[in-house]
Amino acid sequence: MCVILYTYLNYLDVNKIPHMKERNVLAGNWKMNLDYMDAIQLVQALLEGVEDTDRMIISVPYLYISGLAKLTNNSPIEIAAQNCHQKEKGAYTGEISANMLASVGTDYVVLGHSERREYFGETDTLILEKIKMAFASNLKVIYCCGEPLDVREADNHSHFVAEQIEASILQLSSEEMKNIIIAYEPIWAIGTGKTASAEQAQEMHKVIRGLLVSKFGSETAEACSILYGGSVKPANADELFAMPDVDGGLVGGASLKADSFLSILRSNR
Ligand code: PEP
Repeated sequence: MCVILYTYLNYLDVNKIPHMKERNVLAGNWKMNLDYMDAIQLVQALLEGVEDTDRMIISVPYLYISGLAKLTNNSPIEIAAQNCHQKEKGAYTGEISANMLASVGTDYVVLGHSERREYFGETDTLILEKIKMAFASNLKVIYCCGEPLDVREADNHSHFVAEQIEASILQLSSEEMKNIIIAYEPIWAIGTGKTASAEQAQEMHKVIRGLLVSKFGSETAEACSILYGGSVKPANADELFAMPDVDGGLVGGASLKADSFLSILRSNR
């Protein structure tokens, strides 16, 4: 860990990575919201607003995946699940495997979200197991990390997030990293209306990219999309996405309405 931290501190000084448009992605996380009819109407409205060059992912309830995957087929919208089980199959009543998700047209799975860590006790070790299982089923992963408020107030956020990342995605290969999108989501900003400032987001994204450089080299690090999540809305998206290492957003509340999500999308072009 010390070697990694030392290398990224050096990297912070010497490397200026320009904002790379090809890394831009906008992901919506619906959580446990919307009934199926609302979901279809929302996706129809999104399909009218997306352009061929956009990259949009919507993370939807399991039940809707099959229908929405058909609706978005041949469009720039990709479908993510909000979780998967870590085992391939078996006697796990009520659970959904990565392979089941792939078989109904899922492209991504969101793993490491703070709500799963907090309410369902998901650890870094479990998250890594789930990532491996997602890859075994040819799913790509949106990997979430981020610190709680007390850690931020103690000015320990870089170290906290570095430890999360070290225990999970830094255990992957460069080849596997091609199928990871990272979402930095400070927990104190999720669903609270409090957003990290653009400078706070950039600082952490640069730390995260530095960690990737030290483990995988700059080519892999520069190709990786790092999204910011935490009360992104039309009013703050321009400023956040203008930062060189902020490649888009993982958006909760504001992804539930087509006009606000499409407005955020336009800020990410
Ligand atoms: C999220 O669900 O990951 C999230 C960032 O939510 P919100 O945008 O509502 O803060």
